[in-house]
Amino acid sequence: MRIMVIEDEAALRELIEYDLTKAGFACLCLENANDALMVVEDWVPDLILLDLMLPGLQGLQFLEIIRKTRRTPVIVISARNSENDIIAALDRGADDYVTKPFSLNYLEAKIRAVTRRGQGGLSSSVIEAGGIRLDLTSHKVKVDNQPLSLTQKEFELLSLFMRSPGQVFSRNQLLNSVWGYDNELISRTVDAHVATLRKKLTNRGKYIQTLPKIGYSWEVD
Ligand code: CA
Repeated sequence: MRIMVIEDEAALRELIEYDLTKAGFACLCLENANDALMVVEDWVPDLILLDLMLPGLQGLQFLEIIRKTRRTPVIVISARNSENDIIAALDRGADDYVTKPFSLNYLEAKIRAVTRRGQGGLSSSVIEAGGIRLDLTSHKVKVDNQPLSLTQKEFELLSLFMRSPGQVFSRNQLLNSVWGYDNELISRTVDAHVATLRKKLTNRGKYIQTLPKIGYSWEVD
């Protein structure tokens, strides 16, 4: 699971990054929301931790902007602890609000809770659609109950698609999300992996739709 952390206080940012990385999350930490807006299309997070008082674009402004296009869960982390501040953040689309100071155990519990909610309270690690069953914990894939063997990158590609049905992904987004933000690979890598994944999915391969000159999306009929 990928968590974007937007926090200008370096010590806290580093602490959160250290802790979440140790807990097995992939983290991208940014010190302001302007940078986050630039990056969020390319490094698609599963959850965002958002500070409110930031240099430049404020946390609430960032929240309003991304809520126009994304349902990514957002947990606000802020020293502001008045009821009005909390209500304002929740009304603008925050999923939860954690006031500073907080313990990292508490933050992790909030992350787990928000993630569970986002998946309808079902077993948090399994996605199922169109006869395909993806277990995010064991990294096992089954099609019509038959195990399907995928490489790590193919698995990540498929899970990205299945977690966001209908969302259009550009090649660059897929490249940065699956292969990492800093890479020198070219987008043909994406095409090659999508082609192999499609072939392995046989009659389900059609779920991965090609949008000429744009990228791909996942559409289960
Ligand atoms: Ca701050």
